Amino acid sequence: MNPDRDHRIAPEHLVRAAIVYVRQSSPTQLVCHSESTRLQLGLREKAIALGWSQPSVIEDDLGISASGFADRPGFQQMLLRVAKREVGIILCVDASRLSRNSKDWAHLFELCGFFDTLVVDLDQVYDLSHPNDRLILGIKGTVSEMELSILRGRLRAGTEAKAARGELRINIPAGYAYDSSSRIVFDPDKRVQNAIRQMFDQFDRSTSVRQFAMWFRATETRFPLRRRGEKAGIRWEFPGAKNLQKLLTHPIYAGIYTFRRCETRIEYVDGKLRKRVSPLLPKDKWKVCIHDHHPAYVSWEKVLKNQARIEENRPRWDMQENRGAIREGLALLTGLCRCAHCGGKIYVQYKKTSALYYCDGEHTRGSGTCLSFGSHLIDQAVSRELLSTVRPLSVEAAIQAAEQNEREKSQEFETSRLQVQAAQYEADRAFEQYNLVDPKNRLVAATLEEQLNGRLAELQEAERRLDLVAKATRNLTDKQRRRLHELASNFQQVWDHPKADAVLKKRLLRTAIREILVSHQRDQQQLEVTIHWQGGVHTCLSIKKRATPVGRKADTAVVETVGELAKTLSDGEIARVLNMKRVLTPTGLRWSKDRVREFRYHHHLQSESRFAKSDGFGLKGAAEYLGISRKTLLRLERMGVISRNQVTDFAPCQITRQELDSERVQALVRTLKATGRLPKGGCPKEQLTFFDEEQRT
Ligand SMILES: [Zn+2]
Repeated sequence: MNPDRDHRIAPEHLVRAAIVYVRQSSPTQLVCHSESTRLQLGLREKAIALGWSQPSVIEDDLGISASGFADRPGFQQMLLRVAKREVGIILCVDASRLSRNSKDWAHLFELCGFFDTLVVDLDQVYDLSHPNDRLILGIKGTVSEMELSILRGRLRAGTEAKAARGELRINIPAGYAYDSSSRIVFDPDKRVQNAIRQMFDQFDRSTSVRQFAMWFRATETRFPLRRRGEKAGIRWEFPGAKNLQKLLTHPIYAGIYTFRRCETRIEYVDGKLRKRVSPLLPKDKWKVCIHDHHPAYVSWEKVLKNQARIEENRPRWDMQENRGAIREGLALLTGLCRCAHCGGKIYVQYKKTSALYYCDGEHTRGSGTCLSFGSHLIDQAVSRELLSTVRPLSVEAAIQAAEQNEREKSQEFETSRLQVQAAQYEADRAFEQYNLVDPKNRLVAATLEEQLNGRLAELQEAERRLDLVAKATRNLTDKQRRRLHELASNFQQVWDHPKADAVLKKRLLRTAIREILVSHQRDQQQLEVTIHWQGGVHTCLSIKKRATPVGRKADTAVVETVGELAKTLSDGEIARVLNMKRVLTPTGLRWSKDRVREFRYHHHLQSESRFAKSDGFGLKGAAEYLGISRKTLLRLERMGVISRNQVTDFAPCQITRQELDSERVQALVRTLKATGRLPKGGCPKEQLTFFDEEQRT
């Protein structure tokens, strides 16, 4: 017998398995502290020395922290095997290695005690059914847990103190770099700097981050991105909207050093503790925030403005508060109007050449409405108000716009020029490498040649772009400048020009106007509009509504007909039927889809066409449903087998599904298909002619 063997090890332990549990907290530890892993694996020899011939090693938990937040398959497997009485002994470097959180710890030891499993660390063997051993291991576990929390607390305090001084190295986005004394400085690459400045300028001209991201693709402009924790440096890519949003609102570009803008929260999910990172906190809750810490690309106000703009563009589900991103539609006041009757947002509906503002209030769409009115008149009236307000400033604005245009053009030119320079450098380097290689070393030479060709193609592409930009960069001539001033003094003309950009108009309106309240005075047929300007002033307008075919004079017969038709037909179809019947609207106009809709709203007639469609067929639909020709169907109708409902002349026929499915019709159709003739019955005369015609066709 081995003299080293501990008296606790009994023959029944030796029959069962020995487990060596190996663990390292993180992948970094695993790579950098291999000595510890080696030491842990050395336990295998110890197990053999103690008398186990084939100890098994559990190393599934390498790189997983034992702090209690991650699943550790190895640990769970070990618990299971202990509970099945399969394990005689567990070996670990330090008993505290087994578990760092006391819950797991206590559970394992409890099981080891019940199922007679020994535990060994570098010092000694423990039998958990003995109170003394339990006490020693328990103390060790508590100490280890304490040690961890002290270490963590110290590290945290150190990190926070360093961050509070602004000296902790944080992840910095593209545009900045660390110099040799760990200070944040502008990226020495002028091209990167230029791209960052261009990003902030260009975003002012985009309506939303998503459109901005699309602009990069459309103009084939690549942007420098630095991935988090990546040491490789910068990659030139098309940025995504999420990336851009982060960069445009990042305080680092305003020269502000920040630390912990989010916090880590612990949540209890499915019976387990999970760490979650919160969304960005408001500025006063950031751990560290040092202004003027390093050179800035833009002002802090600018970053705040970007944040507000992006917030404003949040999508429709919280539209009641936000105005939404500007889109390309015609209606100029989208997102600005609010209904004075119910306080809800006024939405817009586009048609072929016009737009309609509407508010449905509490109703579902189509069943009733607070108000609805065409966009044309109100857009014009509000624009007129805006123009009279901004006219005195327009000349100055024109000059500024011209200057800005020139500045942007030169910036774009500079970016393209730097791009060519960078491409030239890369191509030169590739050529030098290619030149140095021994031509006999064919494999290497081929690879380098490929690289060189790639670089040359990039250079060519960059030169092509520079050429394009140079052609587009023309400074304004004196004549153009004069024309610009002329236009500025007649701003109305510019505004009304068909080529004037709707997006630009909307941005101007939104800059000046906070909200527009609209109410509908039904008895006077006019809209009361209150414009709330950004400064807090407001203007009231009354706009006469155009005569619409709603009115009390309407003939009750028309109301009934429309009500009847609305059960099965859409508004467009109703208008067609009424026009064919030569019925006019109460104001003497022809019917249109919108007029029918207005008429229905006024008389509270619900449209049920959507629900009715599925149950009835028109002539064509019924013929297709039975699989016979239209002509045959008409014959069947004349025979009196099928009847169709028609609300009024010209209205489409309706044949119900039950009628088509009826035994009589189905039997007739079956016979017809099988024999080519109809059975006796119905009107014989009709049947004969019917057959003659059927066979002739
Ligand atoms: Zn309303």
